[in-house]
Amino acid sequence: MRKVLAAARAGSPVWRERLDAAGLADAEPGGDGMPGGPRWQALPVLRKELLGSVQAGSPPFGGLLGVPVEQLARIFVSPGDVYDPQGTDPDYWRFGKVLAAAGFERGERVLNCFSYHLTPAGFMFDAAARALGCVVVPAGVGQQDLQIRVARAVGATGYTGLPSYLLALLDRAAAAGTPLPLRRAVVTGEPLPEALRARIEAHGVTVRQAYGTADVGLIGYECGRGAGLHIDDGVIVEICDPDGRTLPPGEVGEVVVTALQETYPLIRFGTGDLSALVAEPCPCGRPSARLKGWMGRVSEVTKVRGIFLYPKQLEAAMAGLAGGVQRWRAVVERDADHRDVLRIEFAGQADPRAVRDAVRAAVRLNPDVLVVPPGAIPADGPLFQDRRNWD
Ligand SMILES: [Zn+2]
Repeated sequence: MRKVLAAARAGSPVWRERLDAAGLADAEPGGDGMPGGPRWQALPVLRKELLGSVQAGSPPFGGLLGVPVEQLARIFVSPGDVYDPQGTDPDYWRFGKVLAAAGFERGERVLNCFSYHLTPAGFMFDAAARALGCVVVPAGVGQQDLQIRVARAVGATGYTGLPSYLLALLDRAAAAGTPLPLRRAVVTGEPLPEALRARIEAHGVTVRQAYGTADVGLIGYECGRGAGLHIDDGVIVEICDPDGRTLPPGEVGEVVVTALQETYPLIRFGTGDLSALVAEPCPCGRPSARLKGWMGRVSEVTKVRGIFLYPKQLEAAMAGLAGGVQRWRAVVERDADHRDVLRIEFAGQADPRAVRDAVRAAVRLNPDVLVVPPGAIPADGPLFQDRRNWD
């Protein structure tokens, strides 16, 4: 922790200012300037939804980087124009241990169905699998029939990607009479309700959840023995109330993460996710505390098909159609096969294709578009409705 604070002060003018303002310039181990201490809690939480605007002040990283940009391996960009750095460590985001805990082995063929395009998830799991000596198929997203053919041809037994996409592949392959050879999967990017886990495991695939962000990498993962997510030792996790005070185990609050690395030393980074700490030891013997699992979002920011969706992005897209759209609202639901559906309902003369194109350009999701009579959308109702049920 001291090393991280020193590197952050030395490498980043923004962190120097933030740490000095909180009186953390000379924090000592065990002192009140360490996690949980009063001085530590005086350091304001850097909230994920503000990261984009902090970075925009001095692009691409807003002075938050702990090393010169020249020392990075890659630069990614997430929705909301948030830039994510990759350092040069082979398994920079630390997901290798998750795959190992899930039973992935050297030589195993892994179908990696995370996107390699702009956002980092594809490279995160590629690096993790390579660190274990796995053979990776950089499958990305889309083209399900091609994915099924390839998985069968190469004998892929491992899968990394969204759980809903895994179920879609398994169901489609089984329906075509060409079942997949997949045996184990590590999934992340969206919640994993027990009903979805059960449907995947009915295909003979063991599923383990990982939890992390594009900014800090791995935060927690399932071991297969106890409930919840073991906290990775590459991060310090606090559960905080809205004022940034650390809450005791069992209480629900925001997952606030400090990344113990010098490339991008995010200190008290507010993920916007809700969870609680489980203090009881796990039967697997790993000594770390656990997170109870994902319990919702702090703000209205939500995730659809693994992509962050900010209602403000939708508002901007719909404002661009002014005149053609009298009223509108966005609805997110899950269909019977656990797939997210984003539907734009609108009243007006605009061409539904123009509405779809505007939304797709703004949020990188392909919505269903439904034209409704003006009275169908209440004038004072919410513009954004998340009707998914995660129980
Ligand atoms: Zn465990």
